[in-house]
Amino acid sequence: MDRRRFVQSTLAAAIAASVFPHRGLLAALTRVDADVNAVTGDGVEVTLKRTAVQELADSLRGRLLLPGSEAYDDARRVLNAEIDKHPALIAQCAGAADVANAVDFARAENLLLAVKCGGHSLSGKSTCDKGLMIDLTPLRSVRVDPRRRIAYVSGGSLLGHMDHETMEYGLVTTAGTVSHTGVGGLTLGGGFGRLARKFGLAIDNVRAVDIVGADGKLRHASAEENPELFWAVRGGGGNFGVVTNFEFHLHPMERQVIGGAIAFPMSEAREVMKFFADYVADAPDDLYIDGGLSSRPGEGEGAWMSVCYAGPKNQANKWIDPIRQAGKPVFDGIGVMDYVALQKSSDVSDPRARGAYMKSGFTTGVTQEAIDAILAGFEPHPERALGVAFAHVGGAVTRVPAEATAFPHRYAQHDLLAILDWPVEIDPEDHIAWLKSYWATLEPHTRGFYVNDAFVQSQQQIDKNYLQNHARLVELKNKYDPGNLFRLNTNVRPSI
Ligand code: FAD
Repeated sequence: MDRRRFVQSTLAAAIAASVFPHRGLLAALTRVDADVNAVTGDGVEVTLKRTAVQELADSLRGRLLLPGSEAYDDARRVLNAEIDKHPALIAQCAGAADVANAVDFARAENLLLAVKCGGHSLSGKSTCDKGLMIDLTPLRSVRVDPRRRIAYVSGGSLLGHMDHETMEYGLVTTAGTVSHTGVGGLTLGGGFGRLARKFGLAIDNVRAVDIVGADGKLRHASAEENPELFWAVRGGGGNFGVVTNFEFHLHPMERQVIGGAIAFPMSEAREVMKFFADYVADAPDDLYIDGGLSSRPGEGEGAWMSVCYAGPKNQANKWIDPIRQAGKPVFDGIGVMDYVALQKSSDVSDPRARGAYMKSGFTTGVTQEAIDAILAGFEPHPERALGVAFAHVGGAVTRVPAEATAFPHRYAQHDLLAILDWPVEIDPEDHIAWLKSYWATLEPHTRGFYVNDAFVQSQQQIDKNYLQNHARLVELKNKYDPGNLFRLNTNVRPSI
């Protein structure tokens, strides 16, 4: 650049900075210096022209990140530290227009496309090697309309953001049990948690979405507008586009609930699990109880239950006291709690520090046979943490017809999970093999699986898992995403 142009541009920058004091809030411009190697959705290597990538960068209000920067390394990370993928490009989208531009680019270049909200997909469905990642991290905001009892939640928000804002008005909606999970991924797959038995799945509380489809168009989908698309996104995972905004129904609820965990020695595990099986079968909708076994190196192993009672206070002791009598507790953390604090009580301070692997399946109850299988194979190990638990579903979830939304598993009383985690420095291969063989003994006690938990499944298993809703989902996939641009999910394959 010659001296005159340099002085002019520096002057222009100085004037801009004084005239537009918020300019620092706008993204720093990305300079693309070279062509970029990438892959298509079908895994074919392609070269993206420098000028085309520069145009994408210039079209964003957020940032386009390329390998080599600290921001890129931070953005590519997901919860499961074992997933170490390197997208060719990361579009950090600041709004629906950015998402549309990134989707248009991915479609035009036929690129492998990942969409990341909270990054909690343990199988790593929100990232990819050599594709384009749409990172919704900048798209985090929650607006509550207390009068109409509606929350407007941007597509990159975390559950904790939503709970924090809505509870301020004494209002809530169903969310999962760990606050740094993404609203996007959790909701689109179904979404259960401490209040699902009272208020239904997260999708049962969605009144509308704004969604950028594979054609790059932003649509509003609700019962009145684009109702078929509205049906499909509620349980169809990320198959139909990028949701930039959710509208949730809210419910009044007291901030104080009875919640927390209680633990028992391993020697009492059989009795505690038997108690859990009987007790949970008659639980009212106001009572949520997870129950299971866990083992952590250095901490030992045991049986536990984790509860949230959000019903009338004068009934609380009636429902909580028997839980304390299930054995001789070694820890009792159940008490009056702030609901938002309870929702954060299983968070981890550095949630991206450990590798993880899981298997899961829905159950229609807790049977003695399932308990026997869990206890027979449960094997603590000094290198890995192991948890096996029945996460509570049932209640209001089961009172919605299976065809009312794309989520077909309305019979689910529990999600049975077996989950391992380990420090990243160890080789997990033997542990994963062990979990698979353990799961082979538990799977016969399950019926169908939760799309949000799925690791590797064959296409046939996935199709079958959408049950009676599969054919309608394929029809809608053909209409809204015939090229299967949105494939990094529990994929509904188009048939055309
Ligand atoms: P991401 O990894 O960011 O995304 C997951 C999938 O959703 C990807 O396919 C992604 O492309 C898609 N996606 C995400 N956001 C959007 C969007 N805005 N538009 C379109 N597609 C999108 N599930 C429950 O139901 N209840 C629980 O209590 C619960 N607890 C959990 C606790 C932990 C610690 C973990 C790891 C998982 C838990 N889950 C729970 C499972 C959870 O629902 C899934 O992991 C879910 O995918 C997380 O969403 P995310 O946005 O964080 O994930």
